Formats: sequence, C-alpha cells, structure tokens
Amino acid sequence: MENCLFCKIVKGEIPSTKVYENEYVYAFRDISPQAPTHVLVIPKEHVSSLDDTEAFPDRNLAECLRAIPVIAKQEGLTGGYRVVSNCGPDACQSVPHLHFHILGGTQMADRMA
Ligand code: AMP
Repeated sequence: MENCLFCKIVKGEIPSTKVYENEYVYAFRDISPQAPTHVLVIPKEHVSSLDDTEAFPDRNLAECLRAIPVIAKQEGLTGGYRVVSNCGPDACQSVPHLHFHILGGTQMADRMA
C-alpha cells in the first residue's frame, strides 16, 4: 500500500525503533507510548484491520500472534502484559494497517474500556 504509514515503516522509508523482525512480522516501539513498554506488532503484508482478514493468509496472522510472547519475553515482561488491536472508528483505530499493541511494564487498569 503506497500511502500506508506502517508499510513505509516496514520498507524503512520512515524510521522506527525495531524490536523484532522475521519474514512475516515487524515490531517496533510506539512513538507515543501508553505504558513503560509499548510495542506494535504488524504483519509485513498490508491488511487494514482484523475486520479485513478474511482473505489474508493464516500464516501472516499466526506469525504476528506467535511473535507476541517472544517479544514480551525479550522485553522482560515477566509480570504479564496486555495485547490490544483497535479495529475501526469506535475503537479509535488511527492507522489502517493491522497492528497489535503490546502494553506492559506496569500494573494495568482493571477495566479495559
Ligand atoms: P491505533 O490508534 O490503534 O491505530 O494505533 C496506532 C498507533 O501507532 C498509535 O499508538 C500511535 O502512537 C502509533 N504510531 C503512529 N505513528 C507512528 C510512528 N511513526 N512510529 C511508531 N508508532 C507510531
């Protein structure tokens, strides 16, 4: 996707602080962290959100999910962490490229919304 911010990050056209990468997945620090650790995990191939994944290859999705505990361990999140994927306007999704937020490094709020 030519004008997608996260596609540009994957291609290195926009700088990011990489924390993990494999053939399918790229993960980097959120530019505006909402927790002591705030990492975004994205598939390298563009898809706008979970809502758009019907024809998206299972491998790309699975690799994102499998990367999450690997990154959490790498980040030292031994006490646990929260995973969020905002999907659509009600959830305030601001970047239309599927991403999973990993939030941790502190005691999270009991309520999620
Ligand atoms: P969402 O609101 O769920 O779509 O999440 C998008 C996230 O992308 C937000 O938490 C932003 O802070 C983050 N973000 C936006 N631009 C960048 C960037 N250039 N590098 C890193 N994170 C970004």
